Amino acid sequence: MEHVSIDDEEPNAVGNDGDRRSLSEPLRTTDVAINHYRLASGEELSGGLHAHMDQEEVSVVIEGEATFETFTLLRDADCESDETTSEGGEVTVGAGEAIRFAPGEFQSGANESDDELVVLAMGAPRDSEDVRIPADCPECSHDDMRLEIGESALTFVCPDCGAERVSQGCPECGHELRVALGEETQTVVVCRNCGAEFENPPFAE
Ligand SMILES: [Zn+2]
Ligand SMILES: [Zn+2]
Repeated sequence: MEHVSIDDEEPNAVGNDGDRRSLSEPLRTTDVAINHYRLASGEELSGGLHAHMDQEEVSVVIEGEATFETFTLLRDADCESDETTSEGGEVTVGAGEAIRFAPGEFQSGANESDDELVVLAMGAPRDSEDVRIPADCPECSHDDMRLEIGESALTFVCPDCGAERVSQGCPECGHELRVALGEETQTVVVCRNCGAEFENPPFAE
């Protein structure tokens, strides 16, 4: 048995006035990842829309209200057409409520309320090695790319043709970019700092 107090665990800063505490290490979990988040208004649970192909995620809202963008690529199982359709939207999850994302469902959670948000986020299996973002491959137009987090750079790898691109920050201001639901296109790449928008990630050449 392992028994921990969340407040005793070392916090990692999230934004200006929030934190994330990993409980997986102190609890020595083998099959589930558990993170406790305390987010100030305007802060995010993740860096934009992403999916884990190899992990199911559940978030339980303890205090406040979380807003999740959700996005699912509906691939044609018979491969009769190259066009992939998708569905997406926004869902708010209040205190005492929980939300579950299946492997492959894109999601992005944030605190869009004025009050603090406290969330317990769980993922199983514990380690995820196949994280995707909903951006088209510049070589073959495959509709998502796998993120590979290296020591110094974030690389996007096409799971279909193997094309690799190094991610770069906002060309306007250098700030980190994120994928969000778009108004005219399904998804859009946005800079949280200067508000610049791109249809596809501006990869470094
Ligand atoms: Zn490709
Ligand atoms: Zn910018």
